[in-house]
Amino acid sequence: ERIISGEAGEQEVSFEQSLRPQTLKQYIGQDKVKENLQVFIEAARMRQETLDHVLLYGPPGLGKTTLAAIIANEMGVNLRTTSGPAIERPGDLAAILTALEPGDVLFIDEIHRLPRSIEEVLYPAMEDFCLDIVIGKGPTARSVRLDLPPFTLVGATTRAGSLSAPLRDRFGVLSRLEYYKEEHLREIVLRTAELLDTEIDPFAAVEIARRSRGTPRIANRLLKRVRDFAQVRGNGSIEAQLADEALELMQVDRLGLDHIDHKLLKGIIEKFRGGPVGLETIAATIGEESQTIEDVYEPYLLQIGFLQRTPRGRLVTHRVYEHFQLEVPAE
Ligand code: ATP
Repeated sequence: ERIISGEAGEQEVSFEQSLRPQTLKQYIGQDKVKENLQVFIEAARMRQETLDHVLLYGPPGLGKTTLAAIIANEMGVNLRTTSGPAIERPGDLAAILTALEPGDVLFIDEIHRLPRSIEEVLYPAMEDFCLDIVIGKGPTARSVRLDLPPFTLVGATTRAGSLSAPLRDRFGVLSRLEYYKEEHLREIVLRTAELLDTEIDPFAAVEIARRSRGTPRIANRLLKRVRDFAQVRGNGSIEAQLADEALELMQVDRLGLDHIDHKLLKGIIEKFRGGPVGLETIAATIGEESQTIEDVYEPYLLQIGFLQRTPRGRLVTHRVYEHFQLEVPAE
């Protein structure tokens, strides 16, 4: 099981669910997003209207699903959850939409993976709360309009750029989730430790936060592993020294980079003299899917200034040489 991966594993889903904050107040960090949502939610509630459709975008594990649940909770309505790849036919979407109750939040994860034919069903649903259904075939086919209860669509995507313009334009609120600051991750670690009824040294919490690559999902994963370690090797309480040892064993370095990041960065240095090199070539060299690299690994490496994207491909920066204590090559 990898520490750094885009999705939550099967067992992890229920672990994560038990850790989910329920209200905006409990949701740590992402202050700008929270502040905006707070205002929109309050205004909608005052007017007794449904909230505008919300698009949440940003790298995996930053809390998009959690926010969708919080929005439903704060609006006092039900949350219905589905995902882009789960909706294969227009009828699948129609079944979900017609089962909604007034005001419900419909959460569509990975919304960029909705087939175009289904997106088109979504347009009138989002805009006018109705469905246009074609009954019959050939010359006798006719279109029937079906009214839907008003609802709020919350879409989540790691790739806002892959969303078609007409779909993107139908969201009233667009919120970009950023990688978390270390202090916020530390708070998340402390909160999770408390929920797990585990004692933790504040320095251990900082160390875990530092290695979480800005991502609550990874912070919680690391904490869980360190807790196991503390239980087996110590007395169950997470001491700073013990956390350090456990984190070293997990091969997550001080910046939160794992062996795949290392392979990727060193690969570009050793085989391509630091780049530029195309994504597909990198993927083939290190035996990873290019999509995983693009969605899971690369965004963080770009964020910390280790990689640059140029029209000719990816380029490592001098920071990478420093990180690995390698000599920066002459220009
Ligand atoms: P995906 O890309 O898989 O859709 P996601 O962005 O929806 O991921 P979540 O599943 O919402 O991420 O969050 C992952 C875990 O991190 C959850 O257990 C959640 O409780 C925790 N978490 C996320 N954001 C926060 C936060 N702001 N405060 C506290 N915990 C958080």
